Amino acid sequence: MGNKKWMKTSALMMMAAGLLLAGCSSNNGPQNSGNQANASKEPDTEQLSGHLIVKDPLELTIHMHFSDKFIFDDNWPIFKQAETMTNIKLKGTASKAATNSKELFNTMMASGKIPDLVHHQIKEQYDSLGIEGAFLELDGLIEEHAPNIKKFLSEHPDAAKYMKASNDKTYFLNFTPDGPAAKGWFVRQDWLNKLNLEQPKTVDELYEVLKAFKEKDPNGNGANDEIPYFSRSKLDGIYDLLIQWGVQGGADASKRGFYADNGVVKYGMYEPGYKTAIENIAKWYKEGLIDKEVFTRGPKARDILLGDNVGGMTHDWFASTANFNDILSSKVQGFSFVPMTPPANTDGKILEESSRKGTHASGWGISAESKHPVEAIKYMDFWFSEEGRRLMNFGIEGKHYDLVDGKPKFKDSVLKNTEKTVIQQLQEEGGQIELAFHQDYAYEEQWTNPTALEGINEYVNNGYIMKAYPPVSYTDEERSKFEELNAAVLTFVEEKLQKWVLGAEPINDETFGKYIKQLEDLGIKELLQLEQGAYDRFMK
Ligand code: CA
Repeated sequence: MGNKKWMKTSALMMMAAGLLLAGCSSNNGPQNSGNQANASKEPDTEQLSGHLIVKDPLELTIHMHFSDKFIFDDNWPIFKQAETMTNIKLKGTASKAATNSKELFNTMMASGKIPDLVHHQIKEQYDSLGIEGAFLELDGLIEEHAPNIKKFLSEHPDAAKYMKASNDKTYFLNFTPDGPAAKGWFVRQDWLNKLNLEQPKTVDELYEVLKAFKEKDPNGNGANDEIPYFSRSKLDGIYDLLIQWGVQGGADASKRGFYADNGVVKYGMYEPGYKTAIENIAKWYKEGLIDKEVFTRGPKARDILLGDNVGGMTHDWFASTANFNDILSSKVQGFSFVPMTPPANTDGKILEESSRKGTHASGWGISAESKHPVEAIKYMDFWFSEEGRRLMNFGIEGKHYDLVDGKPKFKDSVLKNTEKTVIQQLQEEGGQIELAFHQDYAYEEQWTNPTALEGINEYVNNGYIMKAYPPVSYTDEERSKFEELNAAVLTFVEEKLQKWVLGAEPINDETFGKYIKQLEDLGIKELLQLEQGAYDRFMK
């Protein structure tokens, strides 16, 4: 071993990450194992019933370890069910003791022992390794053996485009989320009623409402304890406000700042309008309209500030935020936290910048050394069949859901479980796992309350949700340059943002001019040029 190009690449990545190569021999499971006696050269013409892929049981190995916590479990009931249907059993090779998914992936690649199926979360890295020869090019296999994947890709051209590597070939199939909306604005309607106020329709009215929440004691306890605008995300809380002054690109945490303006890639926090936005936000902060602890409050902000009856407004995910009406109805009298129309921004536009991703960087592909590429692609195809998709989205019929009028409906035991959310219950059994499958929003709709659904419908039907910046991909060289420049730029942007909002430095022509100059010194122009190239390639 040791002479393959990708093994060197992976070893270099490990060294760059400061890892020792010594650990490389401990976690290797069986590779390309399984019933080799049954190996794959069975005639493809043989008719098998239902979803059966092979006549005799076949075991394929899989590396799956993602988000530092999801590790393939051979006992997941949902994959056991798939095994019954397809005759293919998956055997996980990733160590359950490992806690760093990225390191483990690099270790596995550098070892040169690559299982049949490999899951990963960084599409570009996977693509580069595919181009170097570590993973199979899937286009031909899909064409010949994967009718469901083929159908999906032809019906979802954006996803198909995203799944292509920089050389226009496909090595990696991605998880495709589903659903119409992400975040929306929520306001204490009972507070508005009490103060005789309407929901704010413009950014000026938004200011007035927050001011009234601050000064007029809407929770009625005689204390000036209201926190008008809060967020459970320290940076999104501020970034999500930028669009109110027409600054785009802030709301997408995975690609902070970037947006396209008539085909030209721009960076919101490098635009002149950013000065006005941040000046106003700093003013709001100073006047106590934004949570004083916005940068440190953390993920429990909603639970704490709504539960204490002091939080007035936030911008957050529809389903989970609307749930507070159910959670707090008996605790906070009259509690009514409802979605509202985004206030028209300073350009007079009603915009919601958050949106669901059309595609996700997680997915899987097939090792170039697999002895069973045809069976592997057929197995990947199974998850795109109607039954496979239902199994991954809803779990097992009779256990997690029943079919009612041909549609899966979760059992009460799942929906009304007070210990675990629906998604937790599914993930513990191997459902809603980010391999390549097409999510079905119907799975989520069933546990989204009417308040949230009403808000989602309003945002969707009125076209408030902006089209997301596309999931461009880079060549290997571009990616390392992008990461280097972007990290430096973003660190500086966020350091300044906090300083300005907190009032630690004034915002004026001089300080803003210096900021712009510093961004240029850090390579923002080069970064935009690089991004433009990737964007143009994606759009062509
Ligand atoms: Ca009060």
